[in-house]
Amino acid sequence: MIPIIDEYMCIGCGKCIEVCPPQALILTNERAHLREEFCEECGFCAPECPVNAIIIPFPLSTD
Ligand code: SF4
Ligand code: SF4
Repeated sequence: MIPIIDEYMCIGCGKCIEVCPPQALILTNERAHLREEFCEECGFCAPECPVNAIIIPFPLSTD
């Protein structure tokens, strides 16, 4: 799943940007911004965030 960045919680530390293999994350106005078209959905970014501003949504069951 493509992560959701809570830009209000983000403190602009840049840790998620360092671990993102395709460099889909960039800092804009000292907040992380995800360029979704580059995201490979690896999930590496979320556990790096010290303020839990990155959420990987669970897929909704369609059963
Ligand atoms: S899920 Fe992976 S590719 Fe997508 S923004 Fe996070 S680290 Fe980058
Ligand atoms: S790791 Fe979290 S706080 Fe740091 S830049 Fe990324 S989203 Fe913002």
